[in-house]
Amino acid sequence: MAKLDFIKEELEQAREQGLFITIRSVDSPQGAWIIVDGKRVLNLCSNNYLGFANHETLRSAAQKGIDEFGVGPAAVRTIAGTMSVHKVLEEKLARFKGVEAAISFQSGFNANLAAIAALVGPDDLIFSDELNHASIIDGCRLSRAKTIRYEHCNPESLREKLEENKDHPGKKMMITDGVFSMDGDIAPLDRLVDVAEEYDAIIMVDDAHGEGVLGNSGRGIVDHFRLHGRVDLEIGTMSKAFGVVGGYVAGKKIIVDYLHQKSRPFLFSSAVTPPDVSACIAAVEILQESGEMVEKLWGNGNYFKEKMSALGFDLGLSETPITPVMIGDAKLASTFSARLFEEGVFAMSIGFPTVPRGKARIRVMNSASHSQQDLDFGVAKFAEIGKELGVVA
Ligand SMILES: *Cc1c(COP(=O)(O)O)cnc(C)c1O
Repeated sequence: MAKLDFIKEELEQAREQGLFITIRSVDSPQGAWIIVDGKRVLNLCSNNYLGFANHETLRSAAQKGIDEFGVGPAAVRTIAGTMSVHKVLEEKLARFKGVEAAISFQSGFNANLAAIAALVGPDDLIFSDELNHASIIDGCRLSRAKTIRYEHCNPESLREKLEENKDHPGKKMMITDGVFSMDGDIAPLDRLVDVAEEYDAIIMVDDAHGEGVLGNSGRGIVDHFRLHGRVDLEIGTMSKAFGVVGGYVAGKKIIVDYLHQKSRPFLFSSAVTPPDVSACIAAVEILQESGEMVEKLWGNGNYFKEKMSALGFDLGLSETPITPVMIGDAKLASTFSARLFEEGVFAMSIGFPTVPRGKARIRVMNSASHSQQDLDFGVAKFAEIGKELGVVA
């Protein structure tokens, strides 16, 4: 066998199982309708919850960022890459989230790697929801702490695991996603925090899909549950509701101070570019002033879900505008998605390993940028193809 034949075999296998990922290319700005592979389609799969990715205010902020600071930071944050815009963003984020301090990173993925690997090490224990995001899992691995998985969204299971390990001499840390992006369910953070506090565990929540969505004006899951001051650190991303790119850690000042010294993506990877950071600042300012787009997002999500439930679609565990349309078989899900695309609706199927085997789905991401007419169009196509493929009666 030639040395790279294993790749060919794996890719062939993925194709046979309907798990091969087709990468589509977008030829327009993000929005309700986009041009994908040359075709104009209704966009039901981006994380652009509030329509910020092509928002006029963010666009002009980015242009102004270039005029004032150029296009690149030319260094890591700890050498010459920290520009005043980075500091402004961090201050605005801290105020918005209602925390003592914030530190920004190149992405949410990086923020998870940065925070987890800095805070715990080989002698420590991490208690992690079994469905936590891949970047949390990688952060846990990188830290070399022992990772103990508790049952999904189950505070009693967390308590059991903490109790079993209560005499462990090292540090303990509890980590959960705030909103789980594949199912759209919300972590019972109030009860998880109660349990973690009893065992004096460091409390971390990844709010990537909660900010801009949950809480007052999109302040996130901590605000949603009124847990201010009780969560040690929140991971955030600027790439979803905020519509740009970047990540951050928000929380206790002592943690942020520590990450300035210790987190490797901060020390060894260049800062986010000035136009990006300038656009991020504008996004936070918009939400600081008004929750109007957040309300529109929820209105759209609820409208879409009502119509889809009435048609008989199984929408899984969703409690947020993220709407998984449960199909089951990965091949059927991918056929469904391909048919939707032919009919002008862009909604991707998601299968193993992103979700468990046999739980393939089409994940619909609702957004404030959709009109009711857009949603009606999407629902009608789901109904038509759902009947055609025998998913609904
Ligand atoms: C998307 C996501 C991330 C990664 O954020 P990026 O800024 O895109 O790197 C991290 N955690 C969760 C839960 C996410 O959904």
